[in-house]
Amino acid sequence: MKRAVYPGTFDPITLGHLDIIKRATTIFDEVIVAVAKRPSKSVLFSFAERLKIVERAVKNLKKVKIEGFSGLVVEFAKKKKASCIIRGLRLLSDFEYEFQMALTNRKIAPQIETIFLMAHQEYSYISSSLVKEAVFLGANLKELLPKPAWVALKRKINEGFSR
Ligand code: ADP
Repeated sequence: MKRAVYPGTFDPITLGHLDIIKRATTIFDEVIVAVAKRPSKSVLFSFAERLKIVERAVKNLKKVKIEGFSGLVVEFAKKKKASCIIRGLRLLSDFEYEFQMALTNRKIAPQIETIFLMAHQEYSYISSSLVKEAVFLGANLKELLPKPAWVALKRKINEGFSR
C-alpha cells in the first residue's frame, strides 16, 4: 500500500489543489488530504469549515481520505504510515519556501520523501488568497473553485464577513 499525505491550509480548497490531489491518486494507492488545524497564516474559514469543504469537494474520489492534523507534517505522515508528502508547485515564487521546507522535513525524517506535482496550466496560477480577495471585491471566480468552496465563500460574504 503506497500512501501519501497532501498537507495544506485549504482556505478554501481550489481547483489547483483538486488537480494536485487527482494527480497524486494516479501515483499512490491512498492520498490523505491533511488539513492544518492551526495554520501559521491567518484564515477566513475555521478548521471545521475547511475540513467540510474539502470533504465535499473530494467526495467522488475513491483513493482520497481527509484528516485534520497539527504539529509536524512528517510526524503525521509517520503516524499514518505514509512514505511521501505531496506538495504543489505553481510559480518560481513557491520554489524557495517549498525547497527549504522539503529539506527541513528530510532532516527531521529522512525516510519520508517530498514529491512536487504541478497542476494543469489552467489551474497553476490559482491561489486561495487571491481568489478570496477578488471575490470579496465582487469578482465572479466560480470557475476556479470546486462548487462547495464557491458556495461557502459566497455564503461567508453574504453573512457580512468584513476584513
Ligand atoms: P500551505 O499553507 O501549507 O501552503 P495551501 O493550502 O496554501 O497550504 O497549499 C497547499 C499546497 O498546495 C502547497 O504545496 C501549495 O503550493 C499547493 N498549491 C496551492 N495552490 C496550487 C495550485 N493552483 N497549483 C499547484 N499547487 C498549488
